[in-house]
Amino acid sequence: MTGIMQGKRGLIMGVANSHSIAWGIAKQLSEAGAELAFTYQGEAFGRRVKPLADSLGSTLLLPCDVEDVSTVDAVFDRLKEEWGTIDFVVHAIGFSDKNELKGRYADVTTRANFSRTMVISAYSFTEVAQRAAPLMRDGGSILTLTYGGSMRVMPNYNVMGIAKAALEAMVRYLAADYGQDRIRVNAISAGPVRTLAGAGIGDARAMFSYQKKNAPLRRTVDIDDVGKSALYLLSDLSSGVTGEIHYVDSGFNITSMPIVEELTK
Ligand code: NAD
Repeated sequence: MTGIMQGKRGLIMGVANSHSIAWGIAKQLSEAGAELAFTYQGEAFGRRVKPLADSLGSTLLLPCDVEDVSTVDAVFDRLKEEWGTIDFVVHAIGFSDKNELKGRYADVTTRANFSRTMVISAYSFTEVAQRAAPLMRDGGSILTLTYGGSMRVMPNYNVMGIAKAALEAMVRYLAADYGQDRIRVNAISAGPVRTLAGAGIGDARAMFSYQKKNAPLRRTVDIDDVGKSALYLLSDLSSGVTGEIHYVDSGFNITSMPIVEELTK
């Protein structure tokens, strides 16, 4: 696959550390020849992301907190200044108060955290696309990350499930709007991965073992699995694909009941 992203440049948003899904994607893109810029949220994350960005030869490492849209503007202004155009953007950003990611959705969800979760985990994708599209003069590919708790009820995923449902609808609306500019917009719906954000969800451990037992591939996915599918969606290999929610979840989403070994003998 080496070389498939040669000559392409893009932005990776959402690396917190070497366990981040965005990092799995960045590694695949870099190996395939892409030139990368990174954002980080706050100085503490910045210190962790710098050596990672350095290791891929990236010289553009920019602060960005999507709650403050002026920082999003600054990122794309800088990309315009440095590169003029870009070919792809990865949005791997999500947040909700972990106190509301346990217990019954109906009991724990507040207006304040609902709004904050929606802005950071869903609306920010629109603001990123709005600023990326004018820099994609030769077309481009924009990717976000979602989770199956958008479609089906997952215990404790709560308000994040609702934000991800909005995010997935947004993928389709943005794909329709930007299609005429040859800009494709897709999402990967990843199975549970052990990351900082993943650890914020109540009983994450139980979700992992359930997935291992009941997904068709009988395993969880890792950041390399997600990275490889992202490479497909961000490259010309997927030139005819837009508005899709692509599952990278060991097939878990196709199942309708736990695997009962006695029934499959
Ligand atoms: P992570 O903690 O490594 O990454 C989450 C990122 O979001 C961090 O880099 C964090 O800095 C960033 N972020 C949060 N609030 C922000 C803000 N206000 N401004 C800018 N950045 C902000 O965890 P991850 O699991 O790699 O998460 C990446 C994406 O993948 C998220 O959208 C998450 O919902 C999604 N996802 C995760 C899983 C999983 O099981 N881990 C499964 C499916 C989808």
